Amino acid sequence: MIRQNYDLSARNTLRLPARAQLWGEFSDVSELLTLLSSAAANDWPVRVLGGGSNVLLAGDIPGLVICPRMAGVQVLHQTAEFSWVAAEAGLSWHDWVVRSTAYGHGLENLALIPGTVGAAPVQNIGAYGAEAADFIDSVTGVQLSSRQLRTLSAAECRFAYRDSVFKRELARDFVITRVMFRLPRQFAPQLSYGPLATWSATAVVTPQSLIDEISRIRRSKLPDPQQIPNAGSFFKNPVVSAAQAAGLQREHPRLPCYPQAGGDVKLAAGWLIEQAGWKGRWSGHAGMHRDQALVLVTDGTAVYTDVERLQQQVQADVLSRFGVQLEPEPQLF
Ligand code: FAD
Ligand code: NAP
Repeated sequence: MIRQNYDLSARNTLRLPARAQLWGEFSDVSELLTLLSSAAANDWPVRVLGGGSNVLLAGDIPGLVICPRMAGVQVLHQTAEFSWVAAEAGLSWHDWVVRSTAYGHGLENLALIPGTVGAAPVQNIGAYGAEAADFIDSVTGVQLSSRQLRTLSAAECRFAYRDSVFKRELARDFVITRVMFRLPRQFAPQLSYGPLATWSATAVVTPQSLIDEISRIRRSKLPDPQQIPNAGSFFKNPVVSAAQAAGLQREHPRLPCYPQAGGDVKLAAGWLIEQAGWKGRWSGHAGMHRDQALVLVTDGTAVYTDVERLQQQVQADVLSRFGVQLEPEPQLF
């Protein structure tokens, strides 16, 4: 059923006010194709919304906003080493992480990331040294321009740091319906990030204890969007050349730098923002969180222009102080 003039303010974790001209949910591919046929017949633009935890709503949305509801899990194949398991787009990401441990491992580090399975490949979600791409075998969905069901291999998804083909060539042109994961059956936890290294030195590390510890750390550091509207990290960590990082480190010896596989260096955006004086500072109805400078929060009454203004102020200050251009992580919807 297609609904009209649908309120999206409770469907985005920044709680920005916006309405969709039309709203439709789908529970399988055939319902999705029916919605897409109506959209094509009426010339409605189509956008897909999951949990709304990584979007910026700049105002009312013309056309049809669709949302996947299917949340099944299916084991397709198992060997001694791996399980291939498909999870449907509407499943809550955290619920999938918890369920995935029955089949294999690796997703534990991605516990408690808000949102849906269908959105996970879009920005190749990552945390604590793991990213979804490490465990994705393929992604299936419907391409809007052709209305054809397609399966993309992991290579075709062109995963990169918080990036994929779904943010580039296929942006606004692909509805992910299910994601196939290839999960190693042996538990070989990734514990390199500081808090996990400290914890694991004395803890008994099991898939469940790792999920619990990550959930505990995240709850202690990150504002809960139910209480304080936010979209997680508001800026991506900038990746700069080794030469630029070395120059910056000469001037700022405490700048956290993380060398990347290709030779470039990742900088911690939160540190840059804090040094630029924005940790805990507000501009109107939006501010940078007092405990985690990378997280933009609002007082619940903010509109998009409040967020945009703060974004530009932070970007300008970090650029003038460090010569580094910060890019927002949430996508303009
Ligand atoms: P939405 O916000 O609904 O959509 C995001 C984008 O994906 C939009 O462009 C949308 O059109 C597209 N999209 C959504 N579903 C589909 C689909 N089925 N097919 C095609 N396109 C689709 N991210 C991390 O990477 N790591 C973290 O640790 C992390 N922590 C967070 C903590 C908090 C408190 C919050 C609020 C956010 C955090 N995020 C993190 C960001 C966010 O949770 C992820 O990006 C998540 O994958 C977004 O899922 P969603 O369902 O809410 O997507
Ligand atoms: P943190 O541990 O305080 O670290 C700050 C930054 O330094 C992180 O962004 C992380 O980069 C980087 N970093 C830290 N240790 C590293 C290591 N050993 N190797 C490489 N990079 C390292 O970060 P936090 O804010 O508490 O977040 C913890 C994790 O959750 C991070 O991975 C972060 O990405 C993720 N997270 C993401 C979001 C989001 O919305 N995208 C929101 C909350 C938390 P990376 O970000 O590349 O890991």
